[in-house]
Amino acid sequence: MIGLGLSQSLRQTKKLATSLTLQQSAIQSQQLSLRLELVEQLGGERYQPKAHCPACGRELTPTEIIRGFSHDINDFDTTCSGCGHRFQPTIICFGHGTEVELPFFCDCQTLHKMEGLQHLSPQEISKKEPAVYRSAIVHHGGLKSAFAKNNIDYPFQEIHDWKSKVTPFLGRMQDTVIAECCQVSTSTIRALRKKLKISRFTLKVALAEIKA
Ligand SMILES: [Zn+2]
Repeated sequence: MIGLGLSQSLRQTKKLATSLTLQQSAIQSQQLSLRLELVEQLGGERYQPKAHCPACGRELTPTEIIRGFSHDINDFDTTCSGCGHRFQPTIICFGHGTEVELPFFCDCQTLHKMEGLQHLSPQEISKKEPAVYRSAIVHHGGLKSAFAKNNIDYPFQEIHDWKSKVTPFLGRMQDTVIAECCQVSTSTIRALRKKLKISRFTLKVALAEIKA
């Protein structure tokens, strides 16, 4: 920075910071879309978080919806990225010829609402608490991973045949995130990735994919 005027160096720093923030948010939304694609491949249902601000009409992106939550178990609202208005988002679930719109909960509300459900099978939970079930998949990768965060060992198997579906995602997301969605250990995913000679995920990989 020697030789640069203060205002010029500030402007440059600000420029750098702005582009970093933009990059970070581009990476976040790219990683979220990949995560939604992976859970769709694994579970057969496509999820689309939805929030249309009733105050200013803005359509929030899925990342904005998740960032707008207050992580309070009693507050179901997200925050409009345009005007700051708070309202409850939904999640649209596309199945085989079906389309259902349900409330979308934040990660900690989902864990809270799952208390006491650990004796039910995934099918029973999806019937009894359809919104909690879908929110658990989007935020935590599935019921087993979500229950594990509450220190509960959930005995039911939800994901079948993950191995045949996971290859296109290896190296494009963190091994830990893929492992959570497949409900297996990170070392299992890492071993498979290495066997297939796929390099590990880095931010550089994500940026290259965004630019491509
Ligand atoms: Zn708004």
